Amino acid sequence: MTKNANILISGASIAGTSMAYWLRRYGFTPTVVERAPAIREGGYKVDIRGAALEVVERMGVMDAVLAGSTEMTVATHYDAKGRKVATMDAALFGGREGADAEIMRGDLNEIFYDLTKDSVEYLFDDSIATISDDGVVTFESGLTRKFDLVIGADGAHSNTRRIVFGDERQFAHDLGYYVSICSVPNHLGLDREEAVHVAPGRTANVYSTKQTSGAKALFLWASEPLDYNYSDVEQQKKLLADAMAGVRWEVPKLLESVRDSRDFYFDSLTQIKMDRWSKGRVALVGDAAYCASPASGQGTSLAIVGAYVLAGELAAAAGDHEIAFDAYQREMAEFVEANQKLGPANVKGMVIPSKFMVWFTIRMLKLMPHMPGKDGMIERITGPIRVAANSITLKNYVE
Ligand SMILES: Cc1cc2nc3c(=O)[nH]c(=O)nc-3n(C[C@H](O)[C@H](O)[C@H](O)COP(=O)(O)OP(=O)(O)OC[C@H]3O[C@@H](n4cnc5c(N)ncnc54)[C@H](O)[C@@H]3O)c2cc1C
Repeated sequence: MTKNANILISGASIAGTSMAYWLRRYGFTPTVVERAPAIREGGYKVDIRGAALEVVERMGVMDAVLAGSTEMTVATHYDAKGRKVATMDAALFGGREGADAEIMRGDLNEIFYDLTKDSVEYLFDDSIATISDDGVVTFESGLTRKFDLVIGADGAHSNTRRIVFGDERQFAHDLGYYVSICSVPNHLGLDREEAVHVAPGRTANVYSTKQTSGAKALFLWASEPLDYNYSDVEQQKKLLADAMAGVRWEVPKLLESVRDSRDFYFDSLTQIKMDRWSKGRVALVGDAAYCASPASGQGTSLAIVGAYVLAGELAAAAGDHEIAFDAYQREMAEFVEANQKLGPANVKGMVIPSKFMVWFTIRMLKLMPHMPGKDGMIERITGPIRVAANSITLKNYVE
């Protein structure tokens, strides 16, 4: 009989739902607790590449993922006066090639949730309050239950990590940038395309995917750490407006729309780095353990692969968590390191520090399609991402 069959997962997003799927498939009994009242819809577009595509294939949902593809076609750069200055293929702009997929995070989450909702217990609108060494968990709702193991899949600001490993500041590595994203009216009439404006130290991007007639506005900017209240959205909107003040193109109009948006997201670009992703009967997976930051473009793939490996190692060790957690650490270490390295490197290409570098970058983008060394330049963009995305050999775990 499998040891430690009764497993609590905190967080029902990419890492949590895929972890639940694999654990169930291997005969464990996972329960998922999610702070939100339901599976979170919408969000932004995310990529699935390399080894993560293989995991999605093994989950049997590749067709659903392809059906949910954003089908983005082009990314166009505009100058301050709104003139088109360069256009590039959307896949190249997003660092994708071949079979790499792009999908809205909410759609992917729903695909994974649908796979598990009839066989896994989900506790919505609740959160872990305490975890004892022998697995007794109390919840914010007052509920108390005993589990054999607890898996923290509750994101970059993980509650499980705070309870078991301590303050986030020990593990957080600030990359020196902020990101903000929200839904806005599609006033540019975009159809499966993105529009980009790059100003020194500040970038604005607005896109519309196949799935929606509306648009998402994304802002990225270089900044010292900001002191703000995490639950004060109005304050965060003001910080964004201050950061973008003076940026032209469509930015003033986008900022007006941001004021009315109801799905406003604001955070620093921060990576989570830990020497060890487990302690006692608790392990972390996805952003909770090794957030690579949105700039890496690999957070979703790390979460998918991490869940596959952690569940697989538990199955291979017949539930012995000490053996499994050691193996998980060993199997994932290089893959995590390689993908985290992409974050600081990529963001330098997204936020351009000076007026001269902005001019130079736009000039290069404009000339690239006509340059003899074009393939080499493209390889310099996609090569490191491809290498990192494939830098793990997936085992075939027991069924
Ligand atoms: C703006 C932005 C753009 C991005 N772009 C990309 C991209 O292009 N490509 C890519 O691969 N990745 C991208 N990412 C990153 C990607 O979204 C994450 O890496 C990925 O979703 C990690 O999944 P996760 O399940 O580990 O964490 P999350 O998706 O953060 O999910 C954590 C879950 O835990 C829940 N939760 C939180 N606290 C508690 C609690 N106390 N109790 C219970 N539940 C809790 C949350 O509600 C959520 O459902 C982007 C992220 C952002 C923010």
